[in-house]
Amino acid sequence: MSFARTILAALALLAAAAPAPAQPAEPLKVMASFSILADFTRAVGGARVAVDQLVGPDADAHVFTPAPADAKRVAAARLVVVNGLGFEGWLDRLVRTAGSKAPVVVASRGVTPRRAASDGHRHDHGHKHGHGDADPHAWQSVANAKVYVANIRDALIKADPDGRGAYEANAQAYLAELDALDRALKDAAGRIAPERRKVIATHDAFGYFADAYGIQFIAPVGVSTEQEASARDVARIITQIRRDKVPAVFMENISDPRLARRIADETGAKIGGTLYSDALTGADGPAPTYLAMMRHNMRVLTEALAD
Ligand code: ZN
Repeated sequence: MSFARTILAALALLAAAAPAPAQPAEPLKVMASFSILADFTRAVGGARVAVDQLVGPDADAHVFTPAPADAKRVAAARLVVVNGLGFEGWLDRLVRTAGSKAPVVVASRGVTPRRAASDGHRHDHGHKHGHGDADPHAWQSVANAKVYVANIRDALIKADPDGRGAYEANAQAYLAELDALDRALKDAAGRIAPERRKVIATHDAFGYFADAYGIQFIAPVGVSTEQEASARDVARIITQIRRDKVPAVFMENISDPRLARRIADETGAKIGGTLYSDALTGADGPAPTYLAMMRHNMRVLTEALAD
């Protein structure tokens, strides 16, 4: 046996004798406020975490009303992951009700918040959510999603220091996927003719996406879905679609599709399909993960806006 092979054999014996990498007896219980944060947390936490979510697939976090069972689920969690930026107005009371002492990590911490309705088109209404509040949908830019993932990684390490190696490795791999996604989205957006880069979505959830990828979104409903579009909002949008020749109107999985259909009917703009802004789909839908959601959105946008 050569020297090198002897060394290899000795190393193999040592590896076999070494204890398995530390795995917790029980996975760390983490509660995410909504499906997109749950997906990030699973990507970083891997097998060391058991992730639960308060607002599930296809559900609207803006208007969520926690039930007593939700307080119980929060009480069981050792870490709570939230978006912040005013997205989960119901969260503080829920954590209090649950008597939870678990740390609450604000995943958006460090992103530059975008002001709601910064294009000024909601200047003439008294809507509670339309005036200078932070736009909470920061995850809609992949650069921000990377900030979320780093915050979640750091919070997991703090809650479960033995898992540091796993969390760092998982986060690194996922951040590389997000980089590739960001490049793909920019490439795809760049192939749309500039004068066609505008669409109608139901609620104003794509401001960060618009800033990152250069597609203009016009929405009859503000950054929260708590208030419905007024007749005046809809009339304004219809005028704008005709004037600016907006090619397509999109539905959302968390919003009533009738508004988008009505706008399409009245203007002749086509229905471009469904965009996913605030919630993933179930496993069988087109957006079961953040990566799939962002790819799906760009695919339907590209198809609808092609010449
Ligand atoms: Zn929203």
